[in-house]
Amino acid sequence: MTANAANAASAPGAAAPSAPAVERIAPEAPLHDVMAGDARWQVKCLDHGFVAMVDCMPRLVPEGKTADFAIVQSARVSYGQGTKQVSEDRGLVRYLMRHRHSTPFEMVEFKFHIAMPIFVARQWIRHRTANVNEYSARYSIVPDRFYRPDAESVRKQSKTNRQGGDEPIDAGTAEDFLKLLERAEANYRDYLSLTEKGVARELARAALPVSVYTEWYWKCDLHNIFHFLSLRMDPHAQMEIQVFARAMYELIRPIVPVSCEAFEDYRLEGMHLTRLEVEAMRSGAPLATDNKREIAEWEAKRARLGLG
Ligand SMILES: Cc1cc2nc3c(=O)[nH]c(=O)nc-3n(C[C@H](O)[C@H](O)[C@H](O)COP(=O)(O)OP(=O)(O)OC[C@H]3O[C@@H](n4cnc5c(N)ncnc54)[C@H](O)[C@@H]3O)c2cc1C
Repeated sequence: MTANAANAASAPGAAAPSAPAVERIAPEAPLHDVMAGDARWQVKCLDHGFVAMVDCMPRLVPEGKTADFAIVQSARVSYGQGTKQVSEDRGLVRYLMRHRHSTPFEMVEFKFHIAMPIFVARQWIRHRTANVNEYSARYSIVPDRFYRPDAESVRKQSKTNRQGGDEPIDAGTAEDFLKLLERAEANYRDYLSLTEKGVARELARAALPVSVYTEWYWKCDLHNIFHFLSLRMDPHAQMEIQVFARAMYELIRPIVPVSCEAFEDYRLEGMHLTRLEVEAMRSGAPLATDNKREIAEWEAKRARLGLG
C-alpha cells in the first residue's frame, strides 16, 4: 500500500476495509497424530523428577510420515519440490544436518513439563533459546521433594576435571554426605511453619537447599534442542542433568527419527578436528602445541580413531 493509499484508508469517514477471506484447504493425504492421541509421554528421572512431552509441532502429519516432514517441507522452499519420496526426504534431512543448515530444524517444536532439582534447573536455564514458565515459589508453597542420590552414586571430586566427579566415594563419607542432605531437608518443617505464621513465601524459600525440586514448562525448537542435548548428554555434563537430557532424547526420537539418526551420525557421535590435529594426522608429527589439555584431547581422539 502506498503512503497516500494508507492515509486514504485511515481518513475519517472512510469505509473500513472488508475482512480478508480465509480459504480452508483440506490436506492432500489423511493426517495422523504423532503422539497417537496421548496427553503426555513421560520418563521418570532421578528420585522425584520427570520429563514429560506434552505437545509438539507438527502434531498432525500425513499418514506414513513422521514430524521430520515439517523440516523437509520448509527446506523445499529453498531447494524446490524435487521428488517427495520418503528416502529422498531422509537424504535431505541428513544433508541439512551435515551442512549445518539449521533453520529447517527450527520448524519442529516440542513442549515439555519437567520436574528437576533447582541445581539442575540452574544449569538448564542457561539455554536461552527456549520459552520457559516455572513454578512460582512466591505464589505457592514449595512441595516437599528433595533430591537425594543413592549412597553408591555419591561421587568423589575429580582431580583432573574441576567441574566433575566420576568415581564413587567410600561408603562412610557417602553416608556423612547423605546425613548432611537430610539435615538440609529438615529446614522444610520450619519453612512450612514460618510461612503458616505469615512469613512471605518469597522470603521463606531462601532457607531451602538447591536439592529441592522445581517444575517448569519448557518449549524449544528442534535445532536448539539438539544444541542442548549435544552439551547435556555429553559425558562432561553433570550426571544429574545428563539423566534429564537422555530422557528428553528418548521422548523426541520416535517423533523425529530421521533427524535424530542424522544428529547421532553427524554431531553426537561425530568428531571435530582442529587445524593442528589435521596437520598432526597428515604429517604423523606430534600436535604442534605444548598445551597439556589440548594434547590429552588429541590423544583421546586418536584412540577413538584407532590411531593408537
Ligand atoms: C560442561 C559444561 C560446563 C559449563 N560450565 C559453566 C560454568 O562454569 N560457568 C557458567 O557460567 N556456565 C557454564 N556452562 C554453561 C555454558 O557456558 C552455556 O551458557 C550453556 O551451555 C548454554 O549454551 P549456549 O549459550 O550455547 O546455549 P543457548 O543459550 O541455548 O544458545 C544457543 C545458541 O544461540 C546463540 N545465542 C543465544 N543467546 C544469545 C545471545 N544473547 N547472544 C548471542 N548469541 C546467542 C548462541 O550461538 C548459542 O550457542 C557450562 C556448560 C557445560 C555444557
